Amino acid sequence: MDSRKLCAILKQMALQIQVQKDELTALDNAIGDGDHGINMARGFEAVQAKLPELEGQQDLGAILNTVGMTLVSTVGGASGPLYGTAFMKAGAACKGLTELDGPTFQKAFEAAVGGIKMRGKSDEGEKTMLDALCPALRAYGEKIEAGLTLKTALEAAAIAAEQGLAHTGEIVAAKGRASYLGERSLGHVDPGAASSALMLKVLAENA
Ligand code: ADP
Ligand code: MG
Repeated sequence: MDSRKLCAILKQMALQIQVQKDELTALDNAIGDGDHGINMARGFEAVQAKLPELEGQQDLGAILNTVGMTLVSTVGGASGPLYGTAFMKAGAACKGLTELDGPTFQKAFEAAVGGIKMRGKSDEGEKTMLDALCPALRAYGEKIEAGLTLKTALEAAAIAAEQGLAHTGEIVAAKGRASYLGERSLGHVDPGAASSALMLKVLAENA
């Protein structure tokens, strides 16, 4: 994966988040404050506006860092600093690289998930984006360790993220606004897990 491909993926993410904006907002309406789609669409619109500038940049770490900073400053809500940190940590993990392969992408993916855990003081099992991302990261790692390609590993990650998303419907929220609902959060999937699964699907389809 080079700069061109990464920028094409970011463009698709912006597009798909726009398409799913109302759906993400509806999920957040059920167990949060109904702004997740709006927040994500605002952030990725700002990322999209930076793409012409980013496309000229070869350093993937620098691109990801700019994406992270853009998300932090535009998304608002809990998800802004969390996704922002994820992209910035991924950027730091591949600083100076002009190409990502399976193992280097794994390092960036690990750093991104670690950044969310640190920033959110959260972990898997609390009905958040981490319940899509952590199983995805494990599935990804298993494929890479078995010698499979970046794309195949991302396809496995996207499937695991969808399964993780479905599982968020069966657990009680322990972090974020949904945690105020306690048991009443049961039966609803987490909006952040839905946006994470969406981003992984875009990655898998376009890698
Ligand atoms: P807000 O909750 O401030 O309105 P959003 O609606 O944009 O922000 O994002 C909500 C999502 O953020 C949740 O669905 C959840 O996935 C994620 N989230 C919230 N708090 C945390 C946390 N501490 N750790 C990980 N993810 C979190
Ligand atoms: Mg919200």
